[in-house]
Amino acid sequence: MNAVIDIVPAAAGGCSDAPVLKERGQREVFCGLTGIIWLHRKIQDAFFLVVGSRTCAHLLQSAAGVMIFAEPRFATAIIDDRDLAGLADANAELDRVVTRLLERRPDIKMLFLVGSCPSEVIKLDLSRAAERLSKSFTPRVRILNYSGSGIETTFTQGEDACLAALVPELPVSDERSLMVVGALADVVEDQFRRLFDELGIGPVHFFPPRKSGELPPVGANTKFLLAQPFLADTARRLEERGAEHLAAPFPLGAEGTTLWLQAAARKFKVDAPRFATVVGPKRERAARALARHRTMLEGRSVFFFPDSQLEIPLARFLSRELGMGLTEVGTPYLHRPHMAAELALLPAGTTLSEGQDVERQLDRCRSARPDIVVCGLGLANPLESEGTTTKWSIELVFTPIQGYDQAADLAELFTRPLTRRLKLVA
Ligand code: SF4
Repeated sequence: MNAVIDIVPAAAGGCSDAPVLKERGQREVFCGLTGIIWLHRKIQDAFFLVVGSRTCAHLLQSAAGVMIFAEPRFATAIIDDRDLAGLADANAELDRVVTRLLERRPDIKMLFLVGSCPSEVIKLDLSRAAERLSKSFTPRVRILNYSGSGIETTFTQGEDACLAALVPELPVSDERSLMVVGALADVVEDQFRRLFDELGIGPVHFFPPRKSGELPPVGANTKFLLAQPFLADTARRLEERGAEHLAAPFPLGAEGTTLWLQAAARKFKVDAPRFATVVGPKRERAARALARHRTMLEGRSVFFFPDSQLEIPLARFLSRELGMGLTEVGTPYLHRPHMAAELALLPAGTTLSEGQDVERQLDRCRSARPDIVVCGLGLANPLESEGTTTKWSIELVFTPIQGYDQAADLAELFTRPLTRRLKLVA
């Protein structure tokens, strides 16, 4: 095998063995229903039916913002007092709602029944409901279920639960192929597809697909790259089906994107000159675009509250490519195998925390006095009112940030709030 050129310096070990502060107190996070907001845009013929309460419906509506649809692709079947009191047969009502929906909407090819706290409290078995309804609607509509419940989860786990539910549906194949796992904006997906083509890597499949009928095949010759860092269950299920995970940092920033592509290039035996020819100019262009943001961000400090599970890759990007100082990097869960390549690139001595005890973490944040704080919506307003500049972590999940062409956009998500703050105090 030809060696793939290493155009990124090797890591010195960074935080691979660093101690992690584990916290198990009160948490401030959104639940997994939030994932529906980006998943319904990605799988264009799928429908997400939340079986939940008015609170769930409000959460979805406010997370989605104001949207006007000709035909919506998510909704909430409200569990009301009669259901909660056991006075109505919730299963019969659910069957009625689903039947009405699918009769009215022939465009729906895949239906997800999404569990919530209320459906779990009344022990409504959505996997049996999906099985039962599938008997009536297969093959026209594939009906699956997963939980978006807020109990002990964070909002990006909704995507993990959704994709994990899809893994058993993937067709079997022995063909050697690359699967990119994790919902990406279409524009980013197209850029990566072109890059893999130029590298001679293929066939390449993206999971989730844009159409429910285009589920990628999986088998012992499938190699997969994670495009998102919050897909532990999905990755485990793919491995159970024989696929091999290609360990790499995540494709954030010029460096992360290069190392991510490099992991695939090595596995698919792309030779060094070809890799350098394809990737080199794009990496250099991204690095040039980042330079003006570095002027603004270098030497400034950032504090991450645990929220999106993107925290560690973002911290690596901000520290290595933009010269920012890391005061604390909190993550809801630390999946060591998936994060190994990222941890190795973090500066030694970085404070890492897993889980949350929000009051204690707020105390640490206030005493660190960082220039910018990355946190959920619930903490952003009070911190802003105290004069702290914040970045909503959820925005980093909604925005296309992966790949070379988005590296400067990602940096701008941090320069913008700082510039705004500087204007306010000027
Ligand atoms: S699933 Fe639970 S946490 Fe999420 S909106 Fe519904 S009630 Fe709230």
